[in-house]
Amino acid sequence: MTNTKTWRTDLKPPKIPPLMVHCFRCNKEFGIKWVGGKQQAYSKKNSWAYWTEETEGDKKICNSCLLNFYKNEKKLFWEKVKNPSRRNVLSGYAINGFLSRD
Ligand SMILES: [Zn+2]
Repeated sequence: MTNTKTWRTDLKPPKIPPLMVHCFRCNKEFGIKWVGGKQQAYSKKNSWAYWTEETEGDKKICNSCLLNFYKNEKKLFWEKVKNPSRRNVLSGYAINGFLSRD
């Protein structure tokens, strides 16, 4: 008999804790989830640069500020988020409640 079962368990990816950051808008501390996958990276959802393509700094934004930005700062949203597919993704996140939970 081989110990296939044990070996398979060992193949499971390690659980990576969230990256703790501060929101650049409200200064709240929050965690960014590790998404893994092909990119082996933390979620880009909370990266300001991901949405705006602003390369300066490495600003992080929490879910509630991101939701507020989308819902209540529409003018700024259109100015900042120029990439049409990112606009779609962000509005999808806002509409389906993805930004209301952590
Ligand atoms: Zn915030």
